Amino acid sequence: SDLASLMDVSVNDVISACMTLGMFVSINQRLDAEAITIIADEFGFDVDFTTTEEETDIAEENDKEEDLLDRAPIVTIMGHVDHGKTSLLDYIREANVTAGEAGGITQHIGAYDVTTKDNKRIAFLDTPGHEAFTAMRARGAKITDVVIIVVAADDNVMPQTKEAINHAQVAEVPIVIAINKIDKPNANADKIKEELSQMNVLVEDWGGKYQCQEVSAKTGQGVDELLEKVLLEAELLELKANPNKNAVGTVIEASLDKGRGYLSTVMVQGGTMRIGDVVLAGSHFGKVKAMYDHRGNRLKEVGPATPVQMLGLAGAPQAGDRFNVMDTDREAREIANKREQILREQSVRTKKHITLDEIGRRLAVGNFKELNVIVKGDVDGSVEALSDSLLKLSTEEVQVNIIHKGVGQISESDVLLATASDAIIIGFQVRPSGGARKIAETEEIEIRLYSIIYDAINELKDAMEGLLEPTE
Ligand code: GDP
Repeated sequence: SDLASLMDVSVNDVISACMTLGMFVSINQRLDAEAITIIADEFGFDVDFTTTEEETDIAEENDKEEDLLDRAPIVTIMGHVDHGKTSLLDYIREANVTAGEAGGITQHIGAYDVTTKDNKRIAFLDTPGHEAFTAMRARGAKITDVVIIVVAADDNVMPQTKEAINHAQVAEVPIVIAINKIDKPNANADKIKEELSQMNVLVEDWGGKYQCQEVSAKTGQGVDELLEKVLLEAELLELKANPNKNAVGTVIEASLDKGRGYLSTVMVQGGTMRIGDVVLAGSHFGKVKAMYDHRGNRLKEVGPATPVQMLGLAGAPQAGDRFNVMDTDREAREIANKREQILREQSVRTKKHITLDEIGRRLAVGNFKELNVIVKGDVDGSVEALSDSLLKLSTEEVQVNIIHKGVGQISESDVLLATASDAIIIGFQVRPSGGARKIAETEEIEIRLYSIIYDAINELKDAMEGLLEPTE
């Protein structure tokens, strides 16, 4: 309806234009940018998007250079199961208790921060693993500044190690390698470095760019040095934030405490949050009643790169939701209500992730430059062969990127990565797991399964030439 009145044509004409494009829409349905562009074109209009943000997005002004102060890095620990992620997180937390904190009982609130012996602060996300990391990214949240990849020295570089490295690389987040369990008699750090080099991850003492530290999450050996290396990596990023404004940040997790109400752990990324502030997070809002650190200590105000558990929202926002402190209650309520409405509409909205069928449409609009693909297969040989052939399909207009490839069934984390990177998944002689299938359905990620390499290549080729017959 809005689009029709902007173009001064009847709503019915716009609806029938949508139908010829295969979109069955209602009068008050929201259209995505590409649909608007194509439909406007049908009526002879050019579209100029003055902003690509949803009207409910809160414009976060760019900070002025002089307002920016150094901030602490935010770190995520990833790696294969049982290689010691949780142990390392626990050790770091317990070994860096400052005098003021002592006594409090550790609570897992999803994130914590420590002050190192050199008096430098580091914040950690306390849900280890690349699934959480990528799920956040899939929701548009960029929190992690540095990733620690843990590999057990008495084991090998494992599939999840590779996946974690891959997810960090796709996100362009710097990596520090921690070779853990160095206290074990059968630890062999050199073997790990060798295996890492085979996947093009060369550590510094092998002439590469990756900082690496041998540690024991059990005895604490090397952990201080590891944190120094993380800080060094962070220094290169020149992380800054403006503490003197309304707080903004990201929701880490939220839960309902029967006695106290909704508890949300948020990472403040800019500004300072204080008791009494009006907070808007996702489609929920409320006044900050209390704030706690991970030892249950009450806080009155928190600045950038600080995780805090807060009480006061009237509901549970989702992990990855942006939060903003608002000037007035009314403003917060209005936006929360609008977002709620959009959420409801979104369930009937057109696809937002790429599919093969959509490639032709996006090509027609002319803003399609890259096709991200994840390739999974039953044996290494066919994964490599298929990936190579797909890469060669790149044309001047469209670049094919294989953002991840591997042997094995299509996993939940593959689908999350596809969501975060707007990719399609191609499976050769493999199928998605039940969980992966479910997420793919809700996130509308296309999974194409093939048993003949030639078919996969041809279909993608046709799609990229805009020749693919639409499937229903
Ligand atoms: P996660 O699955 O990666 O979080 O791994 P955990 O932290 O749960 O560790 C898996 C197992 O390895 C546990 O039994 C830990 O006690 C043990 N572990 C972790 N780090 C070390 C270490 O540095 N040395 C030794 N000897 N054992 C460790």
